[in-house]
Amino acid sequence: MKVDRKEAALITGAASGIGRASALALARRGANVALVDLDLERLQVVRDEVAACGGEVLALRASVTHSADLQAAVQEAARAFGGLHTVVAAAGIARRGRVTDIDEDEWDQVVDVNLRGVFLLARHAIGHMIESGGGSFVAVSSDAGLRGSIGYAAYSASKHAVIGLVRCLALDYAREGIRSNAVCPGFVETPMADELFADNPRYDRAFYESRMPLGRLARAEEVANVIAHLSSPEASYTNGMFYTVDGGTTAGTFG
Ligand code: NAD
Repeated sequence: MKVDRKEAALITGAASGIGRASALALARRGANVALVDLDLERLQVVRDEVAACGGEVLALRASVTHSADLQAAVQEAARAFGGLHTVVAAAGIARRGRVTDIDEDEWDQVVDVNLRGVFLLARHAIGHMIESGGGSFVAVSSDAGLRGSIGYAAYSASKHAVIGLVRCLALDYAREGIRSNAVCPGFVETPMADELFADNPRYDRAFYESRMPLGRLARAEEVANVIAHLSSPEASYTNGMFYTVDGGTTAGTFG
């Protein structure tokens, strides 16, 4: 949907997958969009795709784990667009390992990107959002944020924690006009899912698809559409929610 004001949006993990699809969805509804990612080369490709939708676009290289760099990227976006209304935390990584197998450094890395990265983004963005008259914060959690995931202890723990963090944001900043929500996708057609399937010694993609009620993975656009909805005036009373986009996978036992 089109919004009245010139919406200013910032998305992390924007060089790929769900972040990229969200950037395109927000640009198509008329937003100016700042793209933040570690991968500058792919970010520049996405910048051109987003620019073709109209509106202003910024490609900013920063890690969500580096507070000063992330703060600088957020400030640059707010300065260039004259404020900030819509913020999407899509950057994330997955590493395989049970608690007794996972390298401690890898545990830290997953929690650093997936949880601390969301915390830092909210920390640096919320002041600008309040100054801009309020807005929407959406974090990408996972179905692994709602239930355990065999062999992915750090990932699942980090994604559960994101939901807790979003609920606190929803309580702490509602009176300042900021709604905070999470989306919980199941498997999505992105490079991350390809890596997860390649890294899984027990089950292949066909096995997981056979256990999904809709019988297929989500397309990144299908998750982006929900993110766009949650950050639109249509969701003006939705705050502190997690929204599953998993084709019914977590609805119950299937088959
Ligand atoms: P993806 O690998 O296609 O994209 C992730 C992006 O995040 C990449 O461009 C990567 O460069 C960026 N990134 C990684 N670490 C970063 C950092 N420190 N700072 C800045 N950018 C960084 O993956 P995706 O599937 O689009 O994942 C997006 C989000 O969705 C993640 O949080 C992921 O956990 C979540 N998710 C994905 C799936 C799935 O099946 N693909 C399912 C549920 C949840």
